[in-house]
Amino acid sequence: MEINTFCPECENGIFLSELPRKGLVPCKRCGKGRQASGEGELDAQGALARCGICSCSEFYRQKDFNTKLGLWITAFILGLALIFLVVKDNLKVGFAILVAGALVDLFLYFGLGDILICYSCRGIYRGLPFNPEVEGFDLKIHDDYAFSKKK
Ligand SMILES: [Zn+2]
Ligand SMILES: [Zn+2]
Repeated sequence: MEINTFCPECENGIFLSELPRKGLVPCKRCGKGRQASGEGELDAQGALARCGICSCSEFYRQKDFNTKLGLWITAFILGLALIFLVVKDNLKVGFAILVAGALVDLFLYFGLGDILICYSCRGIYRGLPFNPEVEGFDLKIHDDYAFSKKK
């Protein structure tokens, strides 16, 4: 298991390899850190049932994909294709690059695992089995937390 959270003081990333115990998870950069509830729970299948940082029990899943990197790859491929299509007037190579680029995107998308994200504290959980009931990001649930109707 790998848990990513961040320090509320300085926004430095904090990495944990197991559910935290109650108390302060120290931050290496500023010496403060984030308070963990220590109430993290796994269900019988080993999937996360309760967040160990904030005790929230609602999560969403998402592809473990660095969106910035994905954008750069796509921009690079498009740029390269444009050079061949427009500057070199070489349609065959240009289209071949576009097709290859689309394949790379698809491969990246399906080849990546999923991560679990806590709606309340935005903690990211990797390397755990998934509860099949956990769905993708839901704006409504997110808003409930963001505008603190829930805690
Ligand atoms: Zn810090
Ligand atoms: Zn949480």
